[in-house]
Amino acid sequence: MKPKNNAENFGECICIRCPLYTDCNKNKAERLFCARTKSECAMDSSKMCLCPTGCPVYEKSQLAGAYFCAVELKD
Ligand code: SF4
Repeated sequence: MKPKNNAENFGECICIRCPLYTDCNKNKAERLFCARTKSECAMDSSKMCLCPTGCPVYEKSQLAGAYFCAVELKD
């Protein structure tokens, strides 16, 4: 289930701790990619995505997969 794009999920998103997260993402105030859309920034998918490793939004939404900053999660 695609998560809701709301303040609660925004606060719980762990993207800012992710190795892929860059100043570009920060400057655009991007995160919560699973509920929104992929990033406008160039993302380095050779780094390890943190989404499946302890994100509360990922767990409660029973998501599968990863790299939602690079590949848009469909409904
Ligand atoms: S699953 Fe990934 S993109 Fe979605 S809230 Fe968690 S860390 Fe952010």
